[in-house]
Amino acid sequence: MKRNPTRRVPIGSIAIGNGEPIAVQSMCATKTQDVKATAAQAEALRGAGASLVRVAVDSPKDAEALEALRDRTNVCLVVDLQESYRLATAVAPWVDKLRYNPGHLHHHERSMPVRDKVAFLAGVADEHRCALRIGVNCGSVDPKLSEKFGEDAVGAMVQSALDHSELLDGLGFTRFCVSLKDSDPAKVIEANRRFASQRPDVPLHLGVTEAGLPPMGVIKTRVAFEQLLAAGIGDTVRVSLTLPNDRKPEEVAAAYEILADIAAGRFRSVPDLGSGLNIISCPSCSRVENERFVELAESVLEMTEYAASHDITIAVMGCRVNGPGETDDADLGLWCGPTHVNLKRGPETAGAFGYDEVLARLREELDALIERRESVPPAS
Ligand code: SF4
Repeated sequence: MKRNPTRRVPIGSIAIGNGEPIAVQSMCATKTQDVKATAAQAEALRGAGASLVRVAVDSPKDAEALEALRDRTNVCLVVDLQESYRLATAVAPWVDKLRYNPGHLHHHERSMPVRDKVAFLAGVADEHRCALRIGVNCGSVDPKLSEKFGEDAVGAMVQSALDHSELLDGLGFTRFCVSLKDSDPAKVIEANRRFASQRPDVPLHLGVTEAGLPPMGVIKTRVAFEQLLAAGIGDTVRVSLTLPNDRKPEEVAAAYEILADIAAGRFRSVPDLGSGLNIISCPSCSRVENERFVELAESVLEMTEYAASHDITIAVMGCRVNGPGETDDADLGLWCGPTHVNLKRGPETAGAFGYDEVLARLREELDALIERRESVPPAS
C-alpha cells in the first residue's frame, strides 16, 4: 500500500508513521474506575488485534484507576482527556499516549492562553515519554475558528489541527499525531486530504466519529478509509461502532477487514450516503450515562425505517460531554442523561423524556419534520 512519508512516532512498544504497519486501535466503553471490567475489555480488544486501547478520564478518580489498569494489561494505553487537561499529570506515568481536543481547551482556566495549556501537556508528555494526539472533532471545534470559517466547517477543523501542530513544533515536541473526525465520511476525507497536503510529515489517525450501528457504521467508515488509505493517507485507524460491551472487539475485526481489502485492491461499491435517512450514533465509551444507550440507538434505527427515503439526519449520543454539541448539526438529536434522554430539533431543545417515552416523542418530531418539508412547494 502506498504510504505518505510521515515521521515515526513511538507509542509505548509500537510506533506509527514512516512506513510502520497501520496500527488498529479501539476504545473501552466500560467505566474507567471499574478496573476489572476495563482491563478485561482492554485485553479483549488486544486479543482481537488492537495495538492501542484508549480509555476516557474525566475525574481524579478515573485517573487513579490508571495505575491498577496498567498492571493488568500490556496493551499500549491511550488516555482521552477532554476538558480536564490538567489530569494529564496524574495519568501520564501509566500510559503511552494522551489525546487532547483543541476545542476543549477553552472551557477551563479561560484566562490562560491556549499556548500555555499546550505547553503544559507537551511538558507532561515529554517527561513521561508519552505521545500526544491532537484530536479535532467536528462537534467541538474552537469557537473562534468556527466563527471565522462559517460554512466551511472542514476549513475550521483543518486550521485547528494546523495551529496546534505548529504550537507543538514551536515547543520542539515532535512525538504527536493528528486526527480530524466527523460523522460524515465525505468531510473526513476532505479534512484529512487538506491537512495531509499541508503537513505530509504528521502521522494521521483516521476515523469516522459516531459512525453508528453496524453494518451502516462499517460502510461509512469504509468509504472514508478506502479514499484516504489508497492515497497514502493514514497511519493508525479506529472504526467507531455503536455496540454493546461484549461485542466491542468487532470494531477491531472490522478495521482489519477494511485494511485487508484495501491492501488487496478490493474496493467495494458503496451506497450514496448523500441522500436518504442517516442515523448517526456514538460508539459509546466509559462516559455513557445509561446502559440503555445501545438499545436506544438500535430502537431508533428500527423505528425510523419508515422514513428511509427522507433526507434527514438523526444523531443519538451517549452522554453530556459530547452529546449536546455533536447533535447540533443533526435534524433531530438525542443525548442520554442518567434517567432522561434529551431530545433536540437541530440546536434547539425539545425537552427531556424518560427512556420509555422518548421513542414516541421522537416519532412525533420526525412526522412533524416530514410534514413541514412536504408542505414546502418545490422551487420553480
Ligand atoms: S458521545 Fe459521550 S458516550 Fe458517546 S463516545 Fe462520545 S464521549 Fe463517549
